[in-house]
Amino acid sequence: MGVVYGPVLSWRFGSSLGIDLISGSKVCTFDCIYCQLGRTVLKVSKPGDFKNYVKAENVVKELEDFINKIDFNSVDVVTFSGSGEPTLNPELGKIVEHVKDIVGEKPLVILTNSSLFYLRKVREALSKIDIVSAKLDAGDEKAFKIINRSYLEKLSINKVIGYIKEFKSIYDGKLMIQTMFLNTTLGFTNSEGEHFEKLIDAYLKIEPDVIQVDTPYRPGGEKFVKPVSIEKLKNIGDVLANYFPRDNIWVFGLHDKSRKKIVWKRKEHKSIILDTLKRRPLRLVDIANLLNVSSEEAYKIVEQLKKDELIKEKILQGEVYYIIAHFH
Ligand code: SF4
Repeated sequence: MGVVYGPVLSWRFGSSLGIDLISGSKVCTFDCIYCQLGRTVLKVSKPGDFKNYVKAENVVKELEDFINKIDFNSVDVVTFSGSGEPTLNPELGKIVEHVKDIVGEKPLVILTNSSLFYLRKVREALSKIDIVSAKLDAGDEKAFKIINRSYLEKLSINKVIGYIKEFKSIYDGKLMIQTMFLNTTLGFTNSEGEHFEKLIDAYLKIEPDVIQVDTPYRPGGEKFVKPVSIEKLKNIGDVLANYFPRDNIWVFGLHDKSRKKIVWKRKEHKSIILDTLKRRPLRLVDIANLLNVSSEEAYKIVEQLKKDELIKEKILQGEVYYIIAHFH
């Protein structure tokens, strides 16, 4: 399985070429209730606590090969994320430097769960990346415990907020906060009431460049987790606009950068789809966009992969998603 995947059309960043710094089974410091990768398999609390991280030399080799397959103008950003928390990779700093050398001016993004900002080495590596998208789903301890299920016993949400704020003060790039607003069938929500108020307090402390108002709409999470409606996300955006400039609030369903056409020089359909599905479930339309083919052609390819028992369907909120077979 390759470590470079996509590009996926991201509503936040446009055409985003992914680099998975974990690869293999999911490795994370959290076990978020909505995680599209399912339950955390390898629970670790600091970089280097697991052996199977992706080495810098592998990233370089794969990225150089991948760039020959694609028209690189059709990529907007290069994003570190994938099968778990990318800051757990102890070679992150070195990898960022190598990737910069290869991709030149193309902006680098990292999607982090914010749990390791307290480590100097992690902060140093993050400070070399153009956009840090930091997860913050809770502003209070109770919501943090319910949603993120951290393995770092000593990490309180107040510490997370404090470390993000500290990082912001020394960082020259764009610090974005991503929040997954959700409901549960057990009556919990962070989209209104006391937990929402605490989130606003946290945003005000951190003063991020952008707040991404998101919801877990893809399958993979716990059955009791439900996404909030687009209408609700818009309302949240309206409330936040009382505190922050409207342009700095990106609302899923309103803000959409996923319009670019991906242009391939060499199409290796099977590996492109499987490498991407390993990191995120996709609908037929996403697969058609990824390969830049018609929906009819995408359907034929998908049917063949289903027949070969490499992928299967999963239905969420009435939408059909494709996932790797034997993944969950
Ligand atoms: S959503 Fe991200 S931070 Fe949460 S468990 Fe999954 S990989 Fe880890």
